[in-house]
Amino acid sequence: MAITLTCPSCGNQITQVTRSSQILVCPACNTTSFLQDGKLEDIGKSAVLTDTPSIFQIGRTFRHKDWRFSPVGRVRYDYGDGWWDEWFVRSDNGKESWVSVDEGEIAIETLVQDKLNVPAYESLKIGSVLNINRIRMTVIEMNTATMIGAQGELPFRAVPGEKYNYIDLLGPKRASFTIEYQTGGIECYRGVWIDPFEISEV
Ligand SMILES: [Zn+2]
Repeated sequence: MAITLTCPSCGNQITQVTRSSQILVCPACNTTSFLQDGKLEDIGKSAVLTDTPSIFQIGRTFRHKDWRFSPVGRVRYDYGDGWWDEWFVRSDNGKESWVSVDEGEIAIETLVQDKLNVPAYESLKIGSVLNINRIRMTVIEMNTATMIGAQGELPFRAVPGEKYNYIDLLGPKRASFTIEYQTGGIECYRGVWIDPFEISEV
């Protein structure tokens, strides 16, 4: 059931659509707010993300093969030489995933719930091979991400300007794996790289 909240910055009414949301970005003034005990707390202005063309739109429904999903929020990270968007999406059955879009590259990933033992960021380099659940995966990218903007709703506290290190790995059959070295701990996401042409709007 949708809940309506008031933007602490401009008083605009914001509708929360996902129960797990912790961050809501006001569509009127782009203030990023943290949701706690049913109230919104202003944690800073977000960059405007809606001025660039995008394959996805919040509130619409898209399809990849048999999987239908609707974006409810996105967060944009700068990695020095550019930026990428992480779309927080919900399936028809309520399952939550992330669709990352970096220029033409798209990966669909979900948060790994069990704790995995992964090496420290500093001990890895491009080309390092890790065994993740007995699957050999190769480090293809490692960098520092800076949160520069958000839109819609997000399930974690994303603060504009916050930085973290991450590595992207590639495995057999275009398997993707991402390790984020966040201040609060390490988070892993597992998924697959897909062909952007396999995505269509429903
Ligand atoms: Zn507002």
